[in-house]
Amino acid sequence: MFQGILIRKDEQGYRAALESLDEAQLPDGDVTVRVAASTLNYKDGLAITGKSPVVRQFPLVPGIDLAGTVEVSTHSAWKPGDQVVLNGWGVGETHWGGLAEKARLKGDWLVPLPAAFSPEQAMAIGTAGYTAMLCVLALERHGVTPDRGEIIVTGAAGGVGSVAVALLAKLGYTVVAVTGRPQEADYLKTLGAAEILERSAFSNPGKPLAKERWAGAVDTVGSHTLANVCASTKYGGVVTACGLAGGMDFPATVAPFILRGVTLAGIDSVMAPRAQRLEAWSRLGRDLDPAKLALITETISLADAIPTAQKLLDGQVRGRVVVKIA
Ligand code: NDP
Repeated sequence: MFQGILIRKDEQGYRAALESLDEAQLPDGDVTVRVAASTLNYKDGLAITGKSPVVRQFPLVPGIDLAGTVEVSTHSAWKPGDQVVLNGWGVGETHWGGLAEKARLKGDWLVPLPAAFSPEQAMAIGTAGYTAMLCVLALERHGVTPDRGEIIVTGAAGGVGSVAVALLAKLGYTVVAVTGRPQEADYLKTLGAAEILERSAFSNPGKPLAKERWAGAVDTVGSHTLANVCASTKYGGVVTACGLAGGMDFPATVAPFILRGVTLAGIDSVMAPRAQRLEAWSRLGRDLDPAKLALITETISLADAIPTAQKLLDGQVRGRVVVKIA
């Protein structure tokens, strides 16, 4: 038996609870992992509270991320004792996830735990941090170098935003952080933000084109914020769009794209190919300052994950949440 959070949906409604689970209940897979740590991402918040239909099979253990040690493997790449990380692939949505002491997974989904990180540090990064790195890699791929000008990060005090600010600042970019929490200004400056802007300047309908300012952007918010960021991006600039914390809509015009040659780069972490994952994790090992990571992170127990999920959706969590399991 082992402990895990289980989400049920039946005649008694949608609910999540910490339960004793039997290994025989674990889904099919060629690798069984003893989970050392997991984390709470925005998507886990949606899954645990049921606010959006993230979970598509019941009952289900949530948790789109995990780090741990292989216990049993019939997959040629993995043997007992290997330390591994998992992000996405539908885990925590359609396949039992990381918010439990054990998980059974497809070996093809796993990547080795980078030597630079402990399992807790890898989860302090989690899908949020790995997505932030995918955004940075996309900016680089499109030629946005630090000398091109300022990079704007929206939802900056959240998980993706905090890691993006820390990474971009370390790489020499001038980072402008947008937040709805002015009390987090000192935190964002410590992570490396050069300037803090108020969320409300971006969250209302704006003009199709505004004064050109950004060489690049990491947008975690979507909706009017993404439209306004595109409208104020400089000629030839690049906007990476990864989130919808402010809404899934995109009430924009084509003006920034056809008049200023702005590129909108979509970022998906869930189905990203293995080579991109390995590159992102290797760059995180090189470019993320562990001291900044510690500043970003709060650690909770498995039992605390359910109340913290609601706080995350209420925008009351700063940075990243690690769920320490073993
Ligand atoms: P967090 O909840 O940690 O951060 C989201 C941040 O967005 C908040 O901290 C807040 O920042 C800001 N925010 C929240 N609500 C609103 C609102 N109504 N209007 C404007 N800003 C708001 O989530 P994560 O960092 O884990 O994820 C951020 C987004 O990225 C989510 O939408 C998530 O689903 C998405 N995501 C996408 C991935 C992908 O593969 N494409 C992978 C990972 C995440 P502040 O207080 O600073 O304003």
